[in-house]
Amino acid sequence: MKLDSSPITQHTFGEHTFYLKRDDQLHQHFSGNKARKFMSLLHNEYPSINTLIGYGSVQANSLYSLAALCKIKKWSLEFYVQRIPQWLKENPRGNYRGALEMGAKIIEVDSDVHPEQYIQQIRQPDSHCLVIPEGGRCEMAEQGIAGLASEIVNWASFRSHQQLAIALPSGTGTTSYYLQKHLQQHDIQVLTCPCVGGSQYLHKQWQELGGVAQPSVLPCDYKHHFGHLYHNEFLLWQKLHKNTNVEFDLLYDPYMWHALLPWMEQHQDTSVLYIHQGGLLGNETMLPRYQRKFER
Ligand SMILES: *Cc1c(COP(=O)(O)O)cnc(C)c1O
Repeated sequence: MKLDSSPITQHTFGEHTFYLKRDDQLHQHFSGNKARKFMSLLHNEYPSINTLIGYGSVQANSLYSLAALCKIKKWSLEFYVQRIPQWLKENPRGNYRGALEMGAKIIEVDSDVHPEQYIQQIRQPDSHCLVIPEGGRCEMAEQGIAGLASEIVNWASFRSHQQLAIALPSGTGTTSYYLQKHLQQHDIQVLTCPCVGGSQYLHKQWQELGGVAQPSVLPCDYKHHFGHLYHNEFLLWQKLHKNTNVEFDLLYDPYMWHALLPWMEQHQDTSVLYIHQGGLLGNETMLPRYQRKFER
């Protein structure tokens, strides 16, 4: 199985025109940022592997993408989480629901061991298992992200008269780092913002991944706490949806757009290609929560 490259569309938001790389449309279930990060697992051969072991949040985008990957590869997926809330067990939603439907085994560990520790000490993976670091923060991600970079270079080669910048929000910073690493020889700048830690955290992550590339961190007038959606972000997300007819993710994209708009204002001679990194199944739980909070 081979995934074709994702389309690029053009949109306007307010006075700004931008391009959008639709990685959310790579594949019905295996899409977005996590599909790029796990792409090498899809394309390479692992004859002795029959089980993938992951861990992280019960609503992680990586849980759903790994479940989709395992379904394609006919592997089983064990995903270890600290806790599954009772309401969610009774009424599965979002990435948790999607992963269960694809046959993932989602396992709650005892509350005083970390899932990562649990896997090493109690599960004890054998040679038929492959253990994936949380969120795919590892070198395995480079191959798939280099593929994304080469699709971008190919597209940009037809518009060499235009100055181009790539925009995407960062969690662990793995995607923005490898993108910048593979785009810098083509003089294409990568813009990002830190959705999880601050910019110091991001620079530390990039150092650990090799430190050969530095995406540009956009300044923002407030600090964003991961997992929260602020009222201004919710309004921006709604306006973006209305203007473009495209649904963006609620966890990362609103903060990035808040930082990106002033940058676009100041760099009107540069075309922005925004990477849609998927994650829309997560909106299934986030959206009703924030509609209740902000639309009373
Ligand atoms: C995981 C994820 C990110 C963050 O990617 P990193 O490589 O960790 O920076 C951003 N957007 C979406 C939708 C994601 O699923």
